[in-house]
Amino acid sequence: MAEKPIITFRIDDNFYDKLDAFTKKILHEGLELFSEEFKNIDAFYLKTLHDTSDRSDQTFRQTPKQLYLVEAIYYQVFEYINRDAFNKTKDTVLILPDCMSLMGDKCERKQKRLGKVCTRCAPNCSINKIMQVADKYGVDGYFSKRKLTEQIQRIKKEKQSLAVIGISCILTLASGMRSAKEAGVPSRGVYLNFTGCEHWADKPFTTETMIDRVEAILEEKYGLPHSAS
Ligand code: SF4
Repeated sequence: MAEKPIITFRIDDNFYDKLDAFTKKILHEGLELFSEEFKNIDAFYLKTLHDTSDRSDQTFRQTPKQLYLVEAIYYQVFEYINRDAFNKTKDTVLILPDCMSLMGDKCERKQKRLGKVCTRCAPNCSINKIMQVADKYGVDGYFSKRKLTEQIQRIKKEKQSLAVIGISCILTLASGMRSAKEAGVPSRGVYLNFTGCEHWADKPFTTETMIDRVEAILEEKYGLPHSAS
């Protein structure tokens, strides 16, 4: 006998009222809580609304701060949901952002079979520093590609028990985690501390992240590296 289908959710009129009240509360409290972190978004958003150029990233730039908050919540929920599965896989790969490379156009990254890798050309480059941390845990890192789901699927063909750590900005980290989910790979992530790439700055500058958060994720999964234990 066929099993009865499970109705995953059922919505009635009351749902919309509850959702409306809940969303207003979350937005109000969230934007107040993160008022310092988000204080420049409104000015940037207004500037982009008056920008009549036909740049291809305009709709991406025209993102109101409420959606930054929603993306941040999405990221945090992914962190909760993915954590166990992330810690159970054998391999981990870092997905690195271009904008953190210190040398910009002169970055000496090299194309390898599974993506572009840092060649450690600049001692002060944050990517170099992150890869030194990754080395302690035997973790590879590849620069992020536009077709991220395909990139992760390709890596997964080689490393079947795979999890990824993404480093990205508020508007792209959760979507990267959605790409990893599409590829069937659990992910965790760490934010860039600020934006600096060409989407946000007329003269792009190097971004940074909290490297110790990357290390904490790896340490939680693998324990202390041999040299420190
Ligand atoms: S250290 Fe790595 S990421 Fe940084 S500029 Fe050199 S090759 Fe590029």
